[in-house]
This record gives sequence, structure tokens and C-alpha cells, in this order.
Amino acid sequence: MNLDISFIDRKTNVLTPSSLHCFRNGIVTINPTQGCSHQCAYCYARGYRIYPGDQKVVIYQNLLNKLRKELPRKRVLPKAVFFSTSCDAFQPVPQVLEVTYLIMELLLSHGIGVSFLTKGNIPMNFMALFEENSSLVNAKIGLITVNRRIQQVLEPYAATPEKRLKNIERLINRGVYTEVRMDPVIPGLTDGEDIIDDYFKTISECNVKSVIVNYLLLRNMIKRNLKKAFGLNRAYNRIFDLYEAGMTVELKAENSRAFALSPEYRRGKYDEIASIASRYNIKTDICGCKNSDVISNAVCSRVVDRS
Ligand code: SF4
Repeated sequence: MNLDISFIDRKTNVLTPSSLHCFRNGIVTINPTQGCSHQCAYCYARGYRIYPGDQKVVIYQNLLNKLRKELPRKRVLPKAVFFSTSCDAFQPVPQVLEVTYLIMELLLSHGIGVSFLTKGNIPMNFMALFEENSSLVNAKIGLITVNRRIQQVLEPYAATPEKRLKNIERLINRGVYTEVRMDPVIPGLTDGEDIIDDYFKTISECNVKSVIVNYLLLRNMIKRNLKKAFGLNRAYNRIFDLYEAGMTVELKAENSRAFALSPEYRRGKYDEIASIASRYNIKTDICGCKNSDVISNAVCSRVVDRS
């Protein structure tokens, strides 16, 4: 892929609370870039106002300097910082990895927790940093499938499932609390019984104990990107047939709406997924922000609160 990389200065404070419902209780978020080189077909951030366009990554070049000035001015330091809500902090772009490393190092040196969700490959210098500060780090590895063929269609430039499994293994071996996000589950494509069994069997071999699950939510832009990814493949029709009985849902996470599968479908499948996961001693939780209509004890984002 030919990636267009550019740089801008961030004008506003780096440490600002997120408007997302999931990040309350002293958790702030940092996005080192606008845009994301992973180009996942189901990515909601590709519809954001600040999205620079496909194959474009705009790096905030002054984040570290701003943060160095901001931290001493804070009366109360944030409990933790989450990377990232609209990009991936581990995109395979050297300048992104460099700024991410320096910011995480600075935060950890102030005793501020670091939490991240990634579909990228985590370089070894980060692994050493996380091992040294393991009690302050919370890792979430996004893994929608362990099937490389499906993954490649949906997340063409993200790390392979194999590399993500290696990330998980390395993080767990270094004492970092690590959970997996099976988000989004794609109906009719990644939720067959055999596919799910294979998924949990594979991740259990890396000692995973906790997985957060969420079904794909549709927006027009996501539909268009999925159609582009699948081309004329029958898989596209099979997926969208299942949404015919669906409904619009309110998303607690960001005060917006999206189109979801019917509550019956989701409830049944979440139970099935939980039961398959339990064969491998893995606990599943349902993402609460996006499923408040079907489940009352769903979880919101766990950052450093590992309850
Ligand atoms: S890694 Fe996340 S932010 Fe990046 S394209 Fe995929 S879903 Fe979007």
C-alpha cells in the first residue's frame, strides 16, 4: 500500500476526557494520528469528520512536547490513558511507533496507567517497557478471527492473526493483563460453531482467560466499505440477509445510532459463544455500550480497573 504520511500540530490539550461513555472515572484517551493504516472494512472511524481519507495518516508531531508541559500543570493526574479511539497506536509506521513509545514511556514514568487496543504488531521495545511496568498496563488485542483468509479481506493491512497471537503470548508471559476483543463478530461469516470453537481453542493455547464480544453494527459507510472488501462474493449477501430482521439501536458509547442484528439473534449467539468459550475455560463478556438492549450485566471498557 502506498501510504501518504503527513504531520500536523495538535492545538488543544493532549489529556482531555473522551466524550465516549466507556471512558469515565479519570480515563482519558490519546490518538497519535488522524486516519489509520490498517484500513479495516468495518471501521467506524473511517466515517469521522477528521478522517483524512483512505491510505492517509496524519501524525500529531507535537504530542510529546505538549504532554511534557501539560503533566506538571495537572492538579490531578489521570488514572489511565487509553490508546486509541479513532486509530491504532501500533500502526506499522515508524514515526507513529516512535511517538507512541515516547508518550507511553512518559505516562508510565508518572505512574499513569496505559491501556490500549490494537490489531497491530507490538515491537519488542514496547514489550520490555510493558514488562517493567506490568501492573500499570492493560492490553486489549483485537482479534475477530483466526482465519487468515477472512482476516485479510476485512483488515487488509493489520497484523496477521499469527502475529497477534504472538503479541498475546508475549504480553501474558510478561505479566501484562491481556484480554482479547472479538469485535466485531460478523454474522454468517465468523460466528459458525466450528469457526468459534477453533477461535477459542487457538487463543486458549496462549493462556487467554477473558474475551469481550460484540456483533457488527452497521452504518452506511461501513456497508459501503464491506461491499468494496467482498466484491461480488456471496458472503456479502449472506451477512446482509441476517440484518433484515435487525433494528436501529442507541449506542451508549457515543450517543449515536447504528443498525444491529435482532436482539434474538444476538442473545442466542452470545450465549452460544459463551458456552463454546467455557469449554476452554475462557470467560466472555458482552460489550455493554453497544448491547444495552439485550443484556443487563454487560461490561463497559475495563482500563486499569481489572475487576
Ligand atoms: S485498527 Fe481500528 S482504527 Fe484502525 S482501521 Fe482498524 S478498526 Fe479502524
